[in-house]
Amino acid sequence: MNCLYCDSPLPPGAVECPNCGAPAPAESSVPPPQPQMPQFAPAPQPTRKKSPLLAELLSFPVIGLGQMYNGQVIKGALLLLVTVILVFAIHPMVFWIFWLLAVLDAGRIAGKINAGETVTPWTFF
Ligand SMILES: [Zn+2]
Repeated sequence: MNCLYCDSPLPPGAVECPNCGAPAPAESSVPPPQPQMPQFAPAPQPTRKKSPLLAELLSFPVIGLGQMYNGQVIKGALLLLVTVILVFAIHPMVFWIFWLLAVLDAGRIAGKINAGETVTPWTFF
């Protein structure tokens, strides 16, 4: 994109011509560079992707591990702690209830992260 008045090249997104100071055609010059940005942006995105299957598998041996994998570290640790306390305080069967919940929750949260949904450190299911 060049200046309409002096024909000097305008930097992308420029509001006015750096050479003569004439207002640049902002509305038409700004959009073209933007669609190209996502093509370079996806590089950091794979780190945000979570595998629901892996999150569930991690919850199999250790309750809360799948939650930690999803980035919900405190929630995962508390889930494990609460499970241990309730197993001793109430009944060993409590373990399997929390185990199932933890596995299902880890898979659901990983799916939400993948879908781009807002997941707070305390989001359940
Ligand atoms: Zn100019």
